[in-house]
Amino acid sequence: MNIQDYENQLEGKECRWCKDSSESKRRNNCSLEGLRILQYNHDGGYKVDGFEKPQWLYVVCPNCDYQWSLQKLGIAQQINPPDTK
Ligand SMILES: [Zn+2]
Repeated sequence: MNIQDYENQLEGKECRWCKDSSESKRRNNCSLEGLRILQYNHDGGYKVDGFEKPQWLYVVCPNCDYQWSLQKLGIAQQINPPDTK
């Protein structure tokens, strides 16, 4: 999985904070699809092709500037996922 593969997984994802605001409903801009993923080294992050270390991946909502980690959006492929028994 490279960054592009992760970006593809943003399909259909929405910013929960914007979703219910009447303004963003009108402008229909609570979608996180097509955003560029940002990343930094983080032990609890994702394995990404091209990076030696695990990467913390996130996107910034263009509407409210909230930083959505891919983890919070429910996108899998973490190296050290929480124990889910
Ligand atoms: Zn938002």
